Amino acid sequence: MNGHFAAVGSTPTEGQYENGIQVIDEDKEFNSQINAYLQATDVADAGFNYHLISVFGSQSTGKSTLLNNLFGTAFNVMSETERRQTTKGIWMSKNKRGSMADNILVMDVEGTDGRERGEDQDFERKSALFALATSEVLIVNIWEHQVGLYQGANMGLLKTVFEVNLQLFLKDKDSTPRSLLFFVIRDHIGTTPLSNLRNTLVQDLTKLWTTISKPQGLEGSRIEDYFDFAFAALPHKILQPDKFVSECANLGKRFVAGSRNSKAQLEHGEQELGGGVFLPEYHRRIPADGFSAYAEGVWDQIVNNKDLDLPTQQELLAQFRCDEIAREVLIGFDSAITPLEDKQAEAVRAGKPVVLPDLGTIGGTTRQKCVRSFETQASRYHKAVYTLKRTDLESKVDQRLKALYHGQLSAAHKSGVTTFSDAVSGAVKAGQKSGAAYEFADIVAAEKTKTLETFKKETEALAIEGVEWTNFQPQYVLFEKELDEVSARLRKDEMRRLATRIERWVKSRLGDAVGLEFNKLGSGRGGSGAPETGEKPASEKDLWDRVWEVFTSVVKEAETRFVDRAKSFEASESEVEIGLWRLRRKSWVALREKIDEEVMEGNILLKLRENFEDKFRYDDAGVPRIWRPADDIEGIYTRARESTLTLIPLLSRFRLAATYAAPDLPEFIGHQPAGVEPEDEEDLTPIGGVDEEDGKSLEEEMTILGEGKRQDLVVRFKKTADGVYVEAKRSAIGGVAQ
Ligand code: GDP
Ligand code: MG
Repeated sequence: MNGHFAAVGSTPTEGQYENGIQVIDEDKEFNSQINAYLQATDVADAGFNYHLISVFGSQSTGKSTLLNNLFGTAFNVMSETERRQTTKGIWMSKNKRGSMADNILVMDVEGTDGRERGEDQDFERKSALFALATSEVLIVNIWEHQVGLYQGANMGLLKTVFEVNLQLFLKDKDSTPRSLLFFVIRDHIGTTPLSNLRNTLVQDLTKLWTTISKPQGLEGSRIEDYFDFAFAALPHKILQPDKFVSECANLGKRFVAGSRNSKAQLEHGEQELGGGVFLPEYHRRIPADGFSAYAEGVWDQIVNNKDLDLPTQQELLAQFRCDEIAREVLIGFDSAITPLEDKQAEAVRAGKPVVLPDLGTIGGTTRQKCVRSFETQASRYHKAVYTLKRTDLESKVDQRLKALYHGQLSAAHKSGVTTFSDAVSGAVKAGQKSGAAYEFADIVAAEKTKTLETFKKETEALAIEGVEWTNFQPQYVLFEKELDEVSARLRKDEMRRLATRIERWVKSRLGDAVGLEFNKLGSGRGGSGAPETGEKPASEKDLWDRVWEVFTSVVKEAETRFVDRAKSFEASESEVEIGLWRLRRKSWVALREKIDEEVMEGNILLKLRENFEDKFRYDDAGVPRIWRPADDIEGIYTRARESTLTLIPLLSRFRLAATYAAPDLPEFIGHQPAGVEPEDEEDLTPIGGVDEEDGKSLEEEMTILGEGKRQDLVVRFKKTADGVYVEAKRSAIGGVAQ
């Protein structure tokens, strides 16, 4: 865009424009205040509902006087006594008379007669170009006595107008604008009727047209292809002042909208006498709010002797004005949207994303207002440019809204997930507290429905009809997916809690039951020190069978509990399978820990001692022995000791009596199910023979006491037994001594 298009200025009052406004001054400078004038005169907002008229004619032929009388304007006129040029450059004023078309702008163009501006044909040509590029009607002001003077100054001017017109509209073949040449014949005496004068003028004009050089391709063009003609005559202003005024008033009535009445008129290039002069086809289609920018652009080209190409000018104007209008409408957009953006940004900075209330309504209406307002003003300009700029504006606006809306949805997403997860955990906790059986799956389903509904409402509130990107279905799907992930996580937590509870239960059951089995070792006769009840002596040999039996039955029961509960979470088969696998492993580890506790040095030594003492101190009938010197203390001692010593190798390995081999632990635990995630394995202790890569065999896993410990235990036990023996021996001797 050339920089000559001035921005919209302030709005002064009409008062300061008493004489209208000078559009172009004597130095050929364009006045940048034209738009201010159009605003002051309420033309700027008229869209296409305005008209432009220019007046042409020789110097001092009463042009300004005519305009002032016709339109109530106050252009400077030459005083009767001074007789020198008054109108300099081009002036413009708005019509001040009523009962004419709306918003008529009149341009008073400095006349030339080669006297006062010297041989300045240049300005004549330039002003003609400028007038043709802007005006619908060109008033040609001539004296009656000039009519028929083919060589007169007027003909020179008209020739210029015709040539310039061809040059101007050469590039605009699609929409060659027509103009009306309105001849106003002054000082009409009345003896020659207007119709005769008209004929003479038409003949002269046609003749003139043939003499002008036409550009290539337009050689055959006719004057009527570009111009319509209208004619009027006025009496002498000084000699017939009253008639002059009344005829001016009559003439003024023709400055209303008109329409072409017949084809014939078009062909003859002549308006019906008395019809309205403003035909729609004369209009240059420059919106009033763009007129000053357009005129300035046009003048800039003209004054710099550049090729004036109106379609290009219109495109440039459209770009300039569309940008300007876009900036204006964006101010309104900013004032509504920026505070929301700030609020959102602040919330994000504070780490607490916020769901802005009514964002959808505000965003939607603001966008609509902005685009509509742009459309109203900018659509009057060059269509292709407008369409492009509209897309620009929409994408600018949408970019802002998009960021805002995505922020909103991200906040809604976050808060939705938190609400959901809190609600589910809360309901689970309440369920646990109340002790009532709660269905985890039902809680999840209910909360999910609620949370999804809220999110959906938000996406629907943000949707703008006909705006593709405001369809937030993908975000909704994503949100739902995340809720599912959260519930999967919560369910997993819940499963973990369940698993922990059941593991604890297993531990406690194993603790009791296995403890009991080991306690039986303490009684060499199996009756827990109450042989008189006749209870069968515990078979030491099948200790491990009983432990295994207890173990498997406890685990089986735990598995049943686990499966029952897991059902209420709607846990998947795979999750259940993994849970059970973990449970079996953990149970085995718990059993191993319990066994290790039982065989800890102090504990096992005590058991062996009890076992030995039972065998040594009680007879076969379970009666405590009173040692007498004659008793075979040594024999009994040796037998009891050897019997108890056999327990040590038995205890050293977990072996079943029937097979004399380790139980099939790998078979019991089973293969690792598919879908075990690393975190499922994190807390698992490796088990020999089950976890092959661990490098520990089943044999090792089943080794309860290593070789060293075993020997150590034998030595310690023997010492303990020896102590008991010595004591017995002493008591036997002591008994005799008493
Ligand atoms: P312009 O230079 O064409 O704008 O002419 P002006 O409107 O300034 O008028 C020039 C002179 O012509 C003034 O002295 C007017 O009084 C005079 N004048 C205005 N109207 C008429 C008219 O209808 N007939 C005659 N004979 N003189 C006129
Ligand atoms: Mg004048």
